[in-house]
Amino acid sequence: MQKNADQKVTVVGTGLVGSLLSIFLAKRGFKVKAFERRPDMRKETVSAGRSINLAISVRGIHALKQVGLENEISKMMIPMRGRMIHPKSGALAYQPYGMSDGDCINSISRGDLNKALMTAAEKAGVAIHFNERATHFDLKTGAVEFKNEKTQVQSPIHSSFVFGTDGSASALRIQLSSLAGYTSSETPLAHGYKELVLPAKGDGLFYLEKNALHIWPRGNYMLIALPNFDGSFTCTLFLPNEGPLSFQSLKTPEQVHLFFKEQFSDIVPLMPKLTEEYFGNPTGHMYTVKSFPWNYKSTCLLLGDAAHGIVPFFGQGMNAGFEDCTVLDDFLVKALATQGPLDWEQIALGFANSRKPNTDAIADLAVENFVEMRDKTGSPQFLLEKEVERILQREFPRDYFSRYSMVSFSRIPYQIAYEAGLIQSEILRELCSGIKNVGELNLSRAANLISAKLSPWMRAKFPA
Ligand code: FAD
Repeated sequence: MQKNADQKVTVVGTGLVGSLLSIFLAKRGFKVKAFERRPDMRKETVSAGRSINLAISVRGIHALKQVGLENEISKMMIPMRGRMIHPKSGALAYQPYGMSDGDCINSISRGDLNKALMTAAEKAGVAIHFNERATHFDLKTGAVEFKNEKTQVQSPIHSSFVFGTDGSASALRIQLSSLAGYTSSETPLAHGYKELVLPAKGDGLFYLEKNALHIWPRGNYMLIALPNFDGSFTCTLFLPNEGPLSFQSLKTPEQVHLFFKEQFSDIVPLMPKLTEEYFGNPTGHMYTVKSFPWNYKSTCLLLGDAAHGIVPFFGQGMNAGFEDCTVLDDFLVKALATQGPLDWEQIALGFANSRKPNTDAIADLAVENFVEMRDKTGSPQFLLEKEVERILQREFPRDYFSRYSMVSFSRIPYQIAYEAGLIQSEILRELCSGIKNVGELNLSRAANLISAKLSPWMRAKFPA
């Protein structure tokens, strides 16, 4: 008998990460019971929570491929090959994300993706129990207490190991963080967000370019829009929570209408329900969650937002959570191939120690990218640097791979992308200082800077 065949494991939360993790575990032969506090969204109309659609990129797609779901789920994706910048006045500006059409991020419905993952999990043998909220975790025995949201019945579940994928407000993490030696910080962003719909033109046609992520950068705030299959776009307004121009200050339909007319005039005529939706839809809040350790001895391990919630500006929260699943799977495979009983503590520690520097890096990158999106994408200096960066990628393909590409189009560890980006920024600043357009770019100076600063560093990180 395989040593995992008699191992029962519990997954708390079947959001995006918990559902995918359950599939990985079932495919490795574990008996998986998953518990979700919400009703089954495939049967009852419940909000999938948070964003309506999100961007999935290489890391997330790789994880889907590992469990054989890439083909099925890629049919649900709309490629976004660049940013379409909507300035306050003047012409639209398109900034391609990568060097080829394949370098794209993809818009996908959060609800449809979650439903597909839950169905695939059940097909793989996972038993999902809905309306079950984890209320207590017994650190000594590893038992989780669940309370049924409909019947209020409490039941303890015993298993070999518990995975906490219960999101950024994780009940498991809160309990762990009360232990001596555990740290957990939740840093709120001063901005909130609100989702609004830009309806389809009719017959599945789009009012805006379909294959782009649209951004209205306005300095301290911004609006973005991602395409949906029916021709609509989900727009998200990111605005300070408080202050002279904020969610708090926009109090009446007239104020909201005027604000949109002044700032986002091109789409106001396309959004007939703007003010109804603005006041009908909730304002969401965003946090960076950094916690450690993610496990307690050989009883439990946190993954996804439960371990490392990040703000959404690099479109990587779910992608990072999906990558968690592939990294954990590598540790499981190694452990299953060795003699003797499974050492859950070693698996959990190995996973967490290798992952933590990378999830810290993407957390910081995500905060930085907010400034880039809302402010810099509209600035001539930034646009010049991006144009120069494209030339460097084209001219020096072996040595220059932009930070954005590393994060979104590769599985290079986030920490390396973070550090490479610091060197790249220095090179770009030097090359762009004193020039007004890409025609003035000095390519031999670029070659010298790259070979002096970037190439030795990359060679040290990736010895051939
Ligand atoms: P969640 O999706 O939060 O799932 C947690 C699950 O656990 C839920 O189903 C919840 O009901 C359940 N649960 C909670 N508590 C309990 C309990 N006590 N007992 C049982 N069940 C419980 N990421 C990207 O990669 N790309 C994007 O473009 C992107 N855009 C975003 C836009 C916005 C506005 C926001 C807010 C986030 C965005 N993200 C994006 C981040 C992404 O949403 C998260 O990283 C992702 O949802 C994390 O998945 P998860 O399964 O860890 O947590």
